[in-house]
Amino acid sequence: MLTYEGVGYTEKFARNFDAVVARIRGQEAIEIVDGPDDVCRAWIEAPEAGEPHCALHRIGKRDRLALEAVGRLLGQELAAGWALVLTPDLLEELRARFRDGTLRQACAHCEWFDTCTAAAGAGFGNSLLALRRLPLAPDGPVGPPVRQRIG
Ligand code: SF4
Repeated sequence: MLTYEGVGYTEKFARNFDAVVARIRGQEAIEIVDGPDDVCRAWIEAPEAGEPHCALHRIGKRDRLALEAVGRLLGQELAAGWALVLTPDLLEELRARFRDGTLRQACAHCEWFDTCTAAAGAGFGNSLLALRRLPLAPDGPVGPPVRQRIG
């Protein structure tokens, strides 16, 4: 998602992805789920580009590696049921760690590897997942919590 530039498997997939990104930009919490998420939904419901691969073992493994990497970054083991609120500081940190490779264990053998590497190399300038920095309060950044347990 860090490198999403408005292009995906199909037009419908991309427009659904646009809507998910817009929700995150609106500071909606990102709920961690086990299995296909809102990004995958468009393809699962109308698999015009072929059978969805969301349930394949390699995709589940990729999801786990990505979750572990983000958890290491936050110093908190994450699992389904957690929710993250993306702040400008967290987005900056995620981008930096993606660019230096420490957040990319899940990317090995991914068909989008070169595309994502190019997006990061370009400073995420075309990425749709961007946030405006919030004004600083006297004792620190103003904004929602970085993470919270739900349920
Ligand atoms: S290379 Fe693949 S797994 Fe890594 S961020 Fe891009 S799409 Fe996701």
